[in-house]
Amino acid sequence: MKQSPQEKKLEEILRSTKLVAGGFMGTDTRHPAEVVDDDCSRLEKLGLTAARVAARMRELTELAIPRLGGWIEAEPGKLRVKSEDFKGSLVCPWPHQGAYGKRITIAERMDIGKQLVWTDLNIHMIETHGFFEGKGAFFRVEPAEVAQILFEGLKTAQM
Ligand SMILES: [Zn+2]
Repeated sequence: MKQSPQEKKLEEILRSTKLVAGGFMGTDTRHPAEVVDDDCSRLEKLGLTAARVAARMRELTELAIPRLGGWIEAEPGKLRVKSEDFKGSLVCPWPHQGAYGKRITIAERMDIGKQLVWTDLNIHMIETHGFFEGKGAFFRVEPAEVAQILFEGLKTAQM
């Protein structure tokens, strides 16, 4: 695939290990644009959009922040979240201004014990770039897990 210099630079940054442990691409050898396209069609099959996923993650992070690392139930008995701040910041690999605090949010589906972990940068990259990170990346957000952990309760509530 022919890449512009800017795309090449982006891919280098995405594969860099300096930003986060394992970088953003993990063991994924695909071009970042293919990762975005592939996840976009996965989301479509699940009846979700990147915008909806990012909004849900932000809502849960904001709910958890005032608890300062303690769990709070977002859906009583079903879904709980907690948020923790770490020193330092993460920078979006796309060329624009802005650093994101190293805040990590953990959501747990209490009935099945499954957890989803994300950073504020994940929310931004999903919302703005449709990027869920490459396979094997430490903060890869798997669309199927998002649907199961963050949207299961909402689906039932709608029925
Ligand atoms: Zn960005």
